[in-house]
Amino acid sequence: MSDYRTAATAAEFAANLAQVNSRIAAACTRAGREVSQVRLLPVSKTVDETRMRAAIAAGMRSFGENKVQEAKAKSAALADVDGLSWSVIGHLQTNKARDVVAFADEFQALDSLRLAETLDRRLQAAGRGLDVFVQVNTSAEQSKYGLPVAEVPGFLAALPQFTGLRVRGLMTLAVFSPDAAAVRACFVRLRELRDRLRDDLPEQVSVDELSMGMSGDFELAIEEGATVVRVGQAIFGSRPTPDSLYWPADGV
Ligand SMILES: *Cc1c(COP(=O)(O)O)cnc(C)c1O
Repeated sequence: MSDYRTAATAAEFAANLAQVNSRIAAACTRAGREVSQVRLLPVSKTVDETRMRAAIAAGMRSFGENKVQEAKAKSAALADVDGLSWSVIGHLQTNKARDVVAFADEFQALDSLRLAETLDRRLQAAGRGLDVFVQVNTSAEQSKYGLPVAEVPGFLAALPQFTGLRVRGLMTLAVFSPDAAAVRACFVRLRELRDRLRDDLPEQVSVDELSMGMSGDFELAIEEGATVVRVGQAIFGSRPTPDSLYWPADGV
């Protein structure tokens, strides 16, 4: 595991952010893409309110959180700050749909029709919509969340009935491997799926966005077409908690 420099002050956050942004720019240049085509989503799980405020002072306004409870608590604690937006990027149980509808601007881990139906019902009741990404399992690991590639077309075809869901794109986690070719293959799989889907998509549904790439692999993801990169540790510093807390790993 790499060591990431922990940021606590606004100046430290600005420095880490500048470094990530310049790596994003370099990856875009290599891929012949514009930096404006890639959105950086800072992932703030485990980060406390004091450090959140330093990150905000460094200019960050949108945050990704894996767990809805933690995200909800932070959005309440930071309610005095104007213009923050919250993206829930982790697996969601149906009984937490109401919480997401209460504060989130985006949900990136849609992977079942039951959840789509429940979210939509809550959204209709609240009179609002929600940007969503469909999570795809591109690593073929039994242990990971997300729909198998083969099930995505049928799943997307069923989504237009849920008018509160604004389907923006696809999201994936690559295989956790030091083998860059294996990681890249996951990103290629998501992009190729998106390109195939485009020909035959319900008109209410878009898959233009590709959310892929984290601290360890966001440059590869950008080279393969990511439009959203979800970066935590490279901005906030190494996390004290193991990743198995956020997605099931083999043997856990
Ligand atoms: C934590 C998390 C990330 C960011 O991972 P880092 O290693 O901190 O960059 C990205 N996506 C999801 C779903 C996460 O839970």
